[in-house]
Amino acid sequence: MDKVSNVATTLKIVDAALTGQDGRWSIAMEGGVITEVAPQIEAEAQLTLNAKGRLVMPGLVDGHLHLDKALLLAQHPAQTGTFQEALTETGNLKRGFTVEDIQCRAREVIEREISFGTTLMRSHVEVDPMLQLTAMEALVPLKQEYAWGLTLQLAVFAQEGITNQPGTVDLLQRAMTLGGDVIGSAPYVDPEPEQNIRIIFDLAQEFDCDVDFHLDFLDDDAPLLLPTVVAETLKRGWQGRVCLGHMTKLAGLPPPALQEMAVMLCDAGISILALPATDLYMMGRKDTHNVRRGVAPIHTLMNYGVTVGVATNNIQNLFTPFGDGDVLKICTLLAQTLQLGTAKSHIQCLEMATTAAAKAIGVQNYGVAPGNIADLVLINAKSASETISMVPIERTVIKGGKIVAETHAQSIRFSPELTQQLTHHKAPGAS
Ligand SMILES: [Zn+2]
Repeated sequence: MDKVSNVATTLKIVDAALTGQDGRWSIAMEGGVITEVAPQIEAEAQLTLNAKGRLVMPGLVDGHLHLDKALLLAQHPAQTGTFQEALTETGNLKRGFTVEDIQCRAREVIEREISFGTTLMRSHVEVDPMLQLTAMEALVPLKQEYAWGLTLQLAVFAQEGITNQPGTVDLLQRAMTLGGDVIGSAPYVDPEPEQNIRIIFDLAQEFDCDVDFHLDFLDDDAPLLLPTVVAETLKRGWQGRVCLGHMTKLAGLPPPALQEMAVMLCDAGISILALPATDLYMMGRKDTHNVRRGVAPIHTLMNYGVTVGVATNNIQNLFTPFGDGDVLKICTLLAQTLQLGTAKSHIQCLEMATTAAAKAIGVQNYGVAPGNIADLVLINAKSASETISMVPIERTVIKGGKIVAETHAQSIRFSPELTQQLTHHKAPGAS
């Protein structure tokens, strides 16, 4: 994977396939913005990229991940693989976090994501009395450092609770002042979850920022907290500014109850992000057989008009001992889990990983259309279904109208003829 430097201010892609559109398309970009999308564009550009019929889609969006907790598995492999172990041991590991350690792991994830084609990311950043502002101090500088490759939003995140952790509100306020973009928490770990939710909305109003909760994550019998969030959203006029991650309890609702929730979500303009890698791994742990999946049915919610997306969440830690930061692989996992096999549903899956996910985290001008930011990825596939099926590694990534990454793969097949040739002529470097 190479970082390609280019100084062209105008870029044109020709002969591209677009999802849900017949024929071949050209895309012109100037000053970081898409200026034209048409079958043929006559105007010359400083740099022209021939897609040769391959798919050009909006840059991938990873709308929910934890840079500060990523890549911890090498330090601490899972011993029991339980939720309790993940909570306890990640807490212990956090005590040893330093700015340098967090930055080192975060940079590795960000660089991989840029190579995969992620151009927009929201990372949660843990703030609590134990870690204080260490994770914020580590991640705030990376927004600027990697602005050439992706847009990074930081969601200040009270993972350990608020009412049970004296001093947390003050820390959250200081974190927002340091450079937080969004505020959020995990109400399920707080003994007063509803008060936790209200405190976060108070802070959102104080800093005029969007809200992002880890909500209704566990598959226990506790009542849904979603109605509380909906009520606070409406009361404070925060429609279109609230995003909820996990929502695995929605997977356990019968259709009429799910429809009721979908109507509430639409009315309150609340978006939902499914996090299948974590949710499949963590949910249904009490099921001894016929294990439930616990992934929010975002395809059904999308059809009801709810803004939905899919994201990586955790990458190689005790909550999710898998993953490399490729949102497309998570997209395939989602399609398999939610049993989405039609061409139309595959296009929807790619929307959930791009334009819909961007909207879910408050970014509107996203997608392959004139006037939008020129964040694109060229995939070595001809359609959405081929992309979901194969997750091709070969990609060209464009951020703000500039090529920022290219990934190539090479295979050599040793047919009998080639083996014979190599035997006679010796491969380069062979002794
Ligand atoms: Zn999360």
